Amino acid sequence: AVVVRHRMRSSGRWAKAAAIVKELEEKCGTPIGKLRQVADAMAVEMHAGLASEGGSKLKMIISFVDNLPTGDEKGLFYALDLGGTNFRVLRVQLGGKDNRVAKQEFEEVSIPPHLMVGTSDALFDFIAAALKKFVDTEGEDSHLSPGRQRELGFTFSFPVKQSSIAAGTLIKWTKGFSIEDAVGQDVVGELTKAMERVGLDMRVAALVNDTIGTLAGGRYDNPDVIAAVILGTGTNAAYVERAHAIPKWHGLLPKSGDMVINMEWGNFRSSHLPLTGIYDQAMDVESLNPGEQIFEKLISGMYLGEILRRVLCRMAEEAAFFGDTIPPKLKIPFILRTPDMSAMHHDTSSDLRVVGSKLKDILEIPNTSLKTRKLIVELCDIISVRGARLSAAGILGILKKLGRDTVREEEKQRSVIALDGGLYEHYTKFREAMESTLKELLGEASDTIVIEHSNDGSGVGAALLAASHSQYLEVEDS
Ligand code: BGC
Ligand code: MG
Repeated sequence: AVVVRHRMRSSGRWAKAAAIVKELEEKCGTPIGKLRQVADAMAVEMHAGLASEGGSKLKMIISFVDNLPTGDEKGLFYALDLGGTNFRVLRVQLGGKDNRVAKQEFEEVSIPPHLMVGTSDALFDFIAAALKKFVDTEGEDSHLSPGRQRELGFTFSFPVKQSSIAAGTLIKWTKGFSIEDAVGQDVVGELTKAMERVGLDMRVAALVNDTIGTLAGGRYDNPDVIAAVILGTGTNAAYVERAHAIPKWHGLLPKSGDMVINMEWGNFRSSHLPLTGIYDQAMDVESLNPGEQIFEKLISGMYLGEILRRVLCRMAEEAAFFGDTIPPKLKIPFILRTPDMSAMHHDTSSDLRVVGSKLKDILEIPNTSLKTRKLIVELCDIISVRGARLSAAGILGILKKLGRDTVREEEKQRSVIALDGGLYEHYTKFREAMESTLKELLGEASDTIVIEHSNDGSGVGAALLAASHSQYLEVEDS
């Protein structure tokens, strides 16, 4: 009798668990029709954001980049890339048309978590010190022209209201950063003061978002690049707009006629988005930035693992998915990181032993059955495919805005989109779902749209933009 009762109880658990999975699948559904609505809404918001300041959730930030790299850029330049859990410092020797990127050195430093939520001075002092250390390793073979001040392209991957190519104030933090006294400050000023404090003589020649850096780096390699998308810890896109199509731009019409726009699409939101109340909205409410970055919270690497954790939590609570008690570790926000989720999702072993060991090592849940593991892989799929398909819809929105989403016989123009970010680079199933969805959405136009991986293009891109905005440029030109 005992055995039977136990079996019944266990089948009840499975039924409940299966019901939770099914419900998730329904709520996260992204049929093509819905994705088209998302793309249309994205294009509408792009127009609104370009029309007036504050006209949309999409900030459509004017980057002051009206010329993308040509290949002529020359000289020694530095770049600093701050935006995720790591920051990178780069030294790039640009050799013009013949020698291109003649030499490139970089160092990656991880940011101590307490600095992500401390003070502006503490963060920038840390960065400036690391940069100084790196500059001190500059070799004899680095050709800084005599008497020249070193120049830097600063990639700062947060929403910044730019006032020129080398100045801009931080609108808000995203991605787990929260340093209140930096909000509203000119980040170039903050970095420059910190460089002075550590005794580093360097001028910030360009301040760019990582999407802008990636776009610049991508264009340097391929003249058909018209947009860049980051799918990493956070997500965002930038693209080349016609300056006359930006009503809120009151400056001079650039010679090129172009202006690069940093969309800040992570903050996009629409009633068409498949948001779940119990997982997505709850995560949003408890986040560092409630109500903000809703598109990002559905898509990006910072959040996918956390959404999975929340689903597992509910299954533990309501379906006794991991037995009669709730594994205490499962209660810790952000303990499941997206790389771990990806590893489980890609587990090809017959007994899903990667899933088993992740559950054991991270959540301290030993001895899971194959059936349990299989369900978890299914959850990974539902959550990541939703994000991947939504990012494809976002890209379609940009192409629609540019009128490049259909084939026009007279101009079979190729449009290349430069992609970067850890999610795109390392989460294969995410990338594949994103790319196949974009194909599906584009139909016959998909032959003219190319996605290219721009591996760490944002650092080199920032150095290239520093070069084209160097204070020594005009002297050399004349
Ligand atoms: C930031 C963007 C950035 C993106 C990718 C977002 O959270 O707001 O500025 O481009 O992450 O790094
Ligand atoms: Mg990379």
